[in-house]
Amino acid sequence: MNPASPQRIVIIGGGQGAGASLRHLRALAYGGITSVVCAEDQYPYERPPLSKDYLNGTTTLDALTLCKPENPREQFYLADTAERIDPAEKVVALRSGVSIPYDKLLIATGGEARKLVIAGADFPNVHYLRTVHDARRLRTALAACRAAQTLVLVIGGGWIGLEIAAAARQAGLATTLIEAAPQLCGRSLPAPVAAELLRAHQDRGVNIRLGCAIHALHGDDRATAATLSDGSTVPVGMVVVGIGLIPNTQLAADAALAVGNGIRVDVNGRTSDPHIYAVGDVAEFPCTWHGCAVRMETWNNANVQAARAISAMLQHAESPPAGDAVPWFWSDQFDLNLQVLGAPLAGDGSLVSTDAEGGALHLYIKSTRLIGAIGINRARDIRILKRAVERDPQLPFERVANCLANLRELL
Ligand SMILES: Cc1cc2nc3c(=O)[nH]c(=O)nc-3n(C[C@H](O)[C@H](O)[C@H](O)COP(=O)(O)OP(=O)(O)OC[C@H]3O[C@@H](n4cnc5c(N)ncnc54)[C@H](O)[C@@H]3O)c2cc1C
Repeated sequence: MNPASPQRIVIIGGGQGAGASLRHLRALAYGGITSVVCAEDQYPYERPPLSKDYLNGTTTLDALTLCKPENPREQFYLADTAERIDPAEKVVALRSGVSIPYDKLLIATGGEARKLVIAGADFPNVHYLRTVHDARRLRTALAACRAAQTLVLVIGGGWIGLEIAAAARQAGLATTLIEAAPQLCGRSLPAPVAAELLRAHQDRGVNIRLGCAIHALHGDDRATAATLSDGSTVPVGMVVVGIGLIPNTQLAADAALAVGNGIRVDVNGRTSDPHIYAVGDVAEFPCTWHGCAVRMETWNNANVQAARAISAMLQHAESPPAGDAVPWFWSDQFDLNLQVLGAPLAGDGSLVSTDAEGGALHLYIKSTRLIGAIGINRARDIRILKRAVERDPQLPFERVANCLANLRELL
């Protein structure tokens, strides 16, 4: 082990950031002690399939598991919670009473699903989707709804709401999705792409109502009807809420770390305490693509930041700063694969190229460079563009536009 390496690393979290961090420690042959504290009763696992293959029953939790202990130097504390960090003593106190000392600490606590605050919000057939337990409950509830031929009401037209609506519809359920804003995915999609997505859902039978909020849920022991902001009432069999995430920053705030819209970190994932790092959904970092500090809730971001933070902790200098990494995420809905690269909303102009199979590639320009791209069933093109901008983050838009017939020419 590098003599400069920390002897004890503690990781708080049981998701992508925690799992990817442990895997990166292994890849760098870290020889010290690693303690992983997971609030859930599972080893760290991947969440994207929870609204896709796991929800429709085509994959198992085992296939989603990111890591299990591989040697006695790796200690897992499952179903336990980090309750307090003492930065002066460099100790993490767990709910179980255990105290774990650290030389370096990594926080990957993600976030909680934002809850509805309306009458009837606590009926048992109101669902959220964040954990594998939520996904199991949701799967059972969808099956019951199908058997009873009742309607699924999805609240929230963001990525998780749309994926659940697609899964419900594909399972043959009558599905209505309401979104309070005038467009779907308003925080990540330009209006023309959101309109395409809206049409795709409508064509496949999802009843989408934009500019429509929920006012109350009614029933005796479970929700059987919902009143909406337009005054209408719809009968419901179950309700699924996807209205965003609240980052789990309290632990960091209580330890007097700098917290804004997330735990504030630098390009290496380092917080305001040089011995504490934060990665994933909970971390707010300076992103060169967006030109400001952002918090990203994506699988790829958690992986990139985890690798960067662990490299920085161990003083390895091989991976680029996470702030420079090109943002990228995907979503699968029905037969559509959407991929978003870079920062499309930061663009000041765009170009669309469609193909005969109904796929579309939207390119976004800022000044003269390619600032973002969105592919609908254009995974190969997004893969090529990702490689091209990783090589040249200032890739001229004109060059891309000139290579549209064969993007491989960019490589
Ligand atoms: C249903 C679903 C579908 C998704 N689909 C996609 C997708 O298609 N594409 C994409 O790019 N991204 C997707 N994402 C987002 C992606 O999964 C997240 O960005 C990623 O999981 C973030 O990793 P994280 O480690 O920051 O947080 P998480 O994976 O949420 O993990 C946080 C963990 O920390 C634990 N924790 C919290 N507080 C404490 C504490 N005090 N002590 C101990 N443990 C604690 C939590 O219990 C949890 O296990 C999806 C997310 C969900 C929920």
